[in-house]
Amino acid sequence: MHTNLHKKDKRVRNNINVITLGCSKNLVDSERLLSQLNGNGIEATHEAEGDSRTVVINTCGFIDKAKEESVNTILDFVHRKGKGEVEKVVVTGCLSQRYKDDLKTEIPEVDAWFGTQDLPDLVDYLGADYKKELVGERLTTTDSHYAYLKIAEGCNRPCSFCAIPLMRGKHNSRSIEMLKDEARFLVSKGVKEIMLIAQDLTYYGLDLYGKRRLDDLLQNLAEVDGLEWIRMHYAYPSGFPVEVLPIIRNNPKVCNYLDMPLQHISSNVLKHMRRGINKERTIDLVKRIRDEVPGIALRTTMLVGHPGETEQDHEELLRFIEDTRFDRLGVFTYSHEENTHAGDKFEDEVSPEDKERRFEEVMEAQMDISFELNREKIGKTYRTIIDKEEDGYFVGRTEYDSPEVDNEVLIKTPELLIPGNFYDIKINDATEYDLMGSPVGA
Ligand code: SF4
Repeated sequence: MHTNLHKKDKRVRNNINVITLGCSKNLVDSERLLSQLNGNGIEATHEAEGDSRTVVINTCGFIDKAKEESVNTILDFVHRKGKGEVEKVVVTGCLSQRYKDDLKTEIPEVDAWFGTQDLPDLVDYLGADYKKELVGERLTTTDSHYAYLKIAEGCNRPCSFCAIPLMRGKHNSRSIEMLKDEARFLVSKGVKEIMLIAQDLTYYGLDLYGKRRLDDLLQNLAEVDGLEWIRMHYAYPSGFPVEVLPIIRNNPKVCNYLDMPLQHISSNVLKHMRRGINKERTIDLVKRIRDEVPGIALRTTMLVGHPGETEQDHEELLRFIEDTRFDRLGVFTYSHEENTHAGDKFEDEVSPEDKERRFEEVMEAQMDISFELNREKIGKTYRTIIDKEEDGYFVGRTEYDSPEVDNEVLIKTPELLIPGNFYDIKINDATEYDLMGSPVGA
């Protein structure tokens, strides 16, 4: 059974309400839990309003801001439990995986704690039987025409600042057959677009098949009838599998889009970060990707304020961003995480003021670039998928825009555009982060 879980009205006390914090990988875990509960005939909702018998909070434990949000969410529901609005508070996900023992003492009002790999126990605790036959099935919580496909769990990389391997374990690829089945399942429920996600997408297959097989996976997924767009997120630059580039270029189902967090460009900082790559090889890789896939949209993520980063390194990063002109760029400030290499070996030497200033300077540099690149799209026509109707506009995305993180195309037209359908949209205006357009022939 597959239902798309949208908001429930608040008059009825929800049975089990699942709250997801953090990244799309966590969202997939929540969707798997929802599928198991519904598969047992247990009524469950995702982020529904109103009171609930049981709330399951799927937490994030990545960096300070995310941890704070997770703890505040737990405390909010513990408070509501005190007021009788919630009967049970259950916590799972990365924060629980990482700090369960401390949190049990600090927040005794929580009824139960589970880690990131404890789905069968969590399902059992919620009064259901874990059903192996439902593995690969999900109750998606996204708009019904797109979904995330998590191709692996965990990570084997030694990045100095990152606590994810502590919470998600070693890299564990899922088989091509399983992923193809899951893609078929999602398509049978109306999905036309999937985002491939993992901690490290490009490591895919090395553990399971002894070699990188992201190219084979792409080819196999592209064979799934009804699947229109396949998009890649979280590629790792070092050891990047260049064999995927001709597939992106030639296969119309694989979006001309690549998300590849670089974190920095200064060889000094990349060394401190243990990224296994330096400035020259990074620049060569970006050039090769653009040469082999003309017009590809490149998204990246940068990290500022890492121990060892000097003002000169920061200037180098700003120059690189200005020269490279990424289509999309996100930035984080360094968070001093215990039990990480940087957390144990380095001082958190960059001041909060400098971190904030460097963050702002990167955002500003990118905002100008994003505006210029968007202006260049005016007059051009793009195949666009419609996500929703909002404030008198139809809201869509081109193949260069991933949900939640990239541009939206705002379309004002008397025509009725159907969410999940594709239309050719001519762009007639643009801002830093949005495009405006109208249907061709309208
Ligand atoms: S690739 Fe690096 S930053 Fe990404 S999850 Fe793995 S260790 Fe963390």
